Amino acid sequence: MITIKSEREISLMKQAGFIVALAHKAVKEAIKPGVSTLYLDQVAEKVIKENNATPSFKGYGGFPGSICASINNVVVHGIPSEKKILKEGDIIAIDIGACYQGYHGDSAMTHAVGKINENRQRLLEVTQAALYEGLKFAQPNNHLSDVSHAIEKYVLENKFNVVKEFTGHGIGKALHEDPYIPNFGEAGHGPVLKEGMALAIEPMVNAGGSRVKILQDNWTTVTLDRSDSAHFEHTVVITKTGHIILTKLEGSEFGV
Ligand code: MG
Ligand code: MG
Repeated sequence: MITIKSEREISLMKQAGFIVALAHKAVKEAIKPGVSTLYLDQVAEKVIKENNATPSFKGYGGFPGSICASINNVVVHGIPSEKKILKEGDIIAIDIGACYQGYHGDSAMTHAVGKINENRQRLLEVTQAALYEGLKFAQPNNHLSDVSHAIEKYVLENKFNVVKEFTGHGIGKALHEDPYIPNFGEAGHGPVLKEGMALAIEPMVNAGGSRVKILQDNWTTVTLDRSDSAHFEHTVVITKTGHIILTKLEGSEFGV
């Protein structure tokens, strides 16, 4: 069942989303060659706790980190580690969730570490733009799969592939609620979007094939062909006339 959020719930989700965006800003500023992903985890967790929230991911299904930190061919769910050190030219997807007074915000961004090559730059740009292509359809009276279709269409036009094993999701009192939001499919299917629905929309895009594989730690998900992968996500709420992005700092064009 897809829950409809009340005004009070939406205002709490705005605060949760704001805290997620603050944590992203701090992590972005900390990213540089030589830094470990565990350090980035600590930076995010500090911001979340200072703002009277808790990291949504820590302990979720046994996940050990406050963030997911996924380098290069890691698609999602990279476990923060002092052994994972950023190098010049890497790309790193940071996924952050925060729970404020019982409500969650969830957002991901992929960053360049220093100077990156053109292919990686294009992957980041296309994945970010795919999120916004999907968001164009996050409006009342559209079908959910209009969002999914727009994301896949844009990605395929740009000669990359979407990941199919993981999806976006509803969000609110739980980090993951109904509905699942695939990043592919035909338009015109699934539930009709309504004012008050809160959705986490999150394209995961591979430079190579769409297939992925989960490593032995049961979390780290890599591309099967070991090509690069990028991930962007925002939590949004459907309004009367469109949507509001909750995980964004005022005045910034995207994310942080
Ligand atoms: Mg996320
Ligand atoms: Mg999510």
